[in-house]
Amino acid sequence: MHYANKVYDQVVAANPGEPEFHQAVREVFDSIAPVLAAHPEYADQAILERLVEPERIIAFRVPWVDDAGKIRVNKGYRVQFNSALGPYKGGLRFHPTVYLGMLKFLGFEQIFKNALTRQHIGGAKGGANFDPKGKSDNEVMRFCQSFMTELQRHIGPDIDVPAGDIGVGGREIGYLFGQYRRIRDTFDAGVLTGKGLGFGGSLARTEATGYGAVYFADAMLAARGESLDGRTAVVSGSGNVALYAIAKAQQMGARVVTASDSSGMVYDDAGIDVELLRHIKEDLRGRVSDYAAQRPGARYQAGAKVWDLAELGIRADIAFPCATQNELNEVDARQLLDGGVRAVVEGANMPTTLEATHLLQENGVLFAPGKAANAGGVATSALEMQQNSARQSWSFEKVDAKLHDIMRDIHDTSLDAAARYGHEGNYVVGANAAGFEMVAEAMIAQGV
Ligand code: GLU
Repeated sequence: MHYANKVYDQVVAANPGEPEFHQAVREVFDSIAPVLAAHPEYADQAILERLVEPERIIAFRVPWVDDAGKIRVNKGYRVQFNSALGPYKGGLRFHPTVYLGMLKFLGFEQIFKNALTRQHIGGAKGGANFDPKGKSDNEVMRFCQSFMTELQRHIGPDIDVPAGDIGVGGREIGYLFGQYRRIRDTFDAGVLTGKGLGFGGSLARTEATGYGAVYFADAMLAARGESLDGRTAVVSGSGNVALYAIAKAQQMGARVVTASDSSGMVYDDAGIDVELLRHIKEDLRGRVSDYAAQRPGARYQAGAKVWDLAELGIRADIAFPCATQNELNEVDARQLLDGGVRAVVEGANMPTTLEATHLLQENGVLFAPGKAANAGGVATSALEMQQNSARQSWSFEKVDAKLHDIMRDIHDTSLDAAARYGHEGNYVVGANAAGFEMVAEAMIAQGV
């Protein structure tokens, strides 16, 4: 513990103004104390000092021309964090709040998440402080082209394989892929994942993160002799992860009554109509307030969070935070406890603050950390890479079955590691310890 604390203090001192990165490191370091105690050689090998320093950070200018003919400039990044297990892999986030510290937190998480998938992929993250909201298709296209004009020199199917994240979906991946292909004059299908189905994309990739989170929840409940059937669930967010978490949870017999976006939340007692929500969000690029306006019985609350069950006048069994980091704090956690919630499954990356996580765990809530529960997205990206290498296109059923197996394996691996290190049932310790062991062993085997 002394060793981890010392390195944590160094991280804080050497990376000022990056609270999310500090938080992600703190969570991992707290979890791996028993692993470090069992492996004194890790300190001699300076494994933590090496882990917290990205192998490479690329920062670049992204100039583009808006529809009015005005020149705009954004900041673009790629953080290639760790490649001990395979080529760098991780999404690109386009959001006005993106800065280097956020991408370091996400890239750091990605290392352990990707390890847990056992798909031989390293960890990375990238993005830009670009806000796609309110931009025309042509503006988004020109932005993506400019972003890739620089990024292309740093990536490749065996080097670094970006994908989507917040603000980057199928449309953006298509524009990015087109520019890569034009500049490099080669059809490297495996250079990006989340591609369109007509040019190397995989069936079930779109659904994979949300479906995977629900498969994880199912495995976690099954380990206790319970199931999702007949449960009431609250989901935050209305992006790709939330949409398909709602869809799969409902397929498995749960009633999902909420969705949200940055403006507010919608409550639908009859259960969210996923097809309507998908149409509004994806085809019309609308808001959850539009959903409430079109769906009889649904109510919209501006500025509200989905966690306030008392305010909604409901009780729920399970919560899926699927929006963004630190969206669920200690006050929210108390409301979930008061409202009867017994399981929290993170669909987003680090949506729960450390204080909220501790409060939930102390009160016996089953808590699934994002780096295990939301690994289905990146795992299916790896399945897309496999199909690209083999020039194959697998059926939806085949990809979905593999995703289901991978999620069950991540669940079992995490549960097993938790027990091995004396923290029975603690999925945070289990996921971090298991992912860390894999990366640390590979780093040591490969030398300094
Ligand atoms: N952005 C997703 C994540 O947080 C997916 C990354 C990928 O498919 O490479 O894991």
